[in-house]
Amino acid sequence: METWARPARSANRYSRQVLFQEIGEDGQRRIADQRVLVVGVGALGSVSAEMMARAGVGELHIVDRDYVDESNLQRQSLFDEDDWRGGLPKAVAASRKLSRINGDVSIVATVADVHAGNVLSLMRGVDLVLDGTDNFETRYLLNDASVKSGTPWIYAACVGSYGMSFVVIPGRTPCLRCFMEDEPPPGTSPTCDTAGVIAPVVHAVAAFQVTEALKILAGREEALLGEILSLDVWRGSLDRFRPASARSECPACGRREWVYLGGEQGSRAVTLCGRNAVQVRPSTTRTMELEGVAVRLGKLGEVTVNAYLLRAKLEGRELVLFKDGRAIVHGTDDPAEARTLYSRYVGN
Ligand SMILES: [Zn+2]
Repeated sequence: METWARPARSANRYSRQVLFQEIGEDGQRRIADQRVLVVGVGALGSVSAEMMARAGVGELHIVDRDYVDESNLQRQSLFDEDDWRGGLPKAVAASRKLSRINGDVSIVATVADVHAGNVLSLMRGVDLVLDGTDNFETRYLLNDASVKSGTPWIYAACVGSYGMSFVVIPGRTPCLRCFMEDEPPPGTSPTCDTAGVIAPVVHAVAAFQVTEALKILAGREEALLGEILSLDVWRGSLDRFRPASARSECPACGRREWVYLGGEQGSRAVTLCGRNAVQVRPSTTRTMELEGVAVRLGKLGEVTVNAYLLRAKLEGRELVLFKDGRAIVHGTDDPAEARTLYSRYVGN
């Protein structure tokens, strides 16, 4: 006689993923037991984080330095007009949405810039890192941190209608620096801000990134493609090519020299590519009393504030100040000018 028992809610929830033979019950148990960090929840990070939450990972960590802008809504699928009008940091808006998507998953959200001083602590205890960044500097930093700590990460990038993805498993596959030893000089690669991007390529690249992630999380590493995947949704092309093997003279996985981890950790101002904006980071993280700053700056210009950030229009520029003391200055590409504005209005 067949008996039928009503499955527990969580069993039903993942039933279609469990029915997929390549994952099965054992794979699902493994997935539920692991921690994934998504670095950057812009376009790719939004889509990948959503699929990770729906897949039922144990813990989903997200980190992002930016806030929701109107121009994000065309492709950054975790955000809506309320998030933009509310001026929410992406990590906060994404965390709220992800919690509503899957209450089983613990979401750990951090509003911060990922840099040499915090990347290893952000990665501590994490089983897999997904690249949702939009710049090479952070990817090379992730690569150093991944190889040093032995944590797999999955590169993904897209611009225009073109994208690519590949998996780095320290000790088993080549790393980013095995085949691209140094980051391309600034301004030599097209970016979303100079060449635009359409939403479908984001979803296509995220599909491959997350599929490889599911293989790793479900314990099916033998099924990994082991190749660099590139695609163009406009042209309808999909190419796979085998990366050169790991090089013993690779500065990261061969010689274990952590150039990027040893990078500048002090205060700095970096131009945010193509955005006519500069991020200014103080030398130490501090907790800003935004309400107090708002009262002070409100006498000098138009100021709005929420629980996470403050916006002030000053000297024809817009300064967005986060609680950790970081600021994004809009209306300039000049780091020196942004620093000056920062020290004049926020202090050192
Ligand atoms: Zn390498």
